[in-house]
Amino acid sequence: MTRVLVVEDDPQLVRALKINLQARRFEVEEASTGGTALRIAAARKPDVIILDLGLPDMDGLEVIRGVRDWSRVPILVLSARHTSEDKIRALDAGADDYVTKPFSMDELLARLRAATRRQQAPEGRSEDAVVTTEGFTVDLAAKKVLRGERSVRLTPTEWHLLELLISHPGRLMTQRRLLLEIWGPTAGDSTNYLRVYMAQLRRKLEADPSHPRYLITEPGMGYRFEP
Ligand code: CA
Repeated sequence: MTRVLVVEDDPQLVRALKINLQARRFEVEEASTGGTALRIAAARKPDVIILDLGLPDMDGLEVIRGVRDWSRVPILVLSARHTSEDKIRALDAGADDYVTKPFSMDELLARLRAATRRQQAPEGRSEDAVVTTEGFTVDLAAKKVLRGERSVRLTPTEWHLLELLISHPGRLMTQRRLLLEIWGPTAGDSTNYLRVYMAQLRRKLEADPSHPRYLITEPGMGYRFEP
């Protein structure tokens, strides 16, 4: 059974989440403050955490950082804060995904399933990691990309960007993180680099580069590989 820690101070919402999660055979733990959340997370080692950012005793971002000091447990933020900056702050602090209130229970459950799936399949560093979509195949170990039978040539920077995205399937990678990983701290906020390289990757990999199926832009925030 998957154990989920729900960190939320709105009792009605906690009740609704609990009913829905238990109906889908999740085991639910609750915390209504950040302090309790950190304590339960350490003591009970949940498989996934649903986290409200507006908590009575501390900001949810502090909970993310506190948990990230010692754990890679998936953290799904559930928040009324809806600006890109809020989402980016949470993702940069180490959250895995972000759902804005009000939300649909179906969407939340789908994101939750995706987050726990990613956790069970550890990040793609294994030697034989091959990612296959209907459009293309990426062999991470051999550093090869195929479209059908045809091999696709990528520049080192294109490859690096593609590798970062596909080793975090479904996960939003912030512009800041991608820039830092590819170009290092000097890249600053040169998000136009990313736009250029993403456009090149799409031209090489997407059937319709202007309506990408796999290499998705999250406007103002970053990019996501949608498997
Ligand atoms: Ca709240």
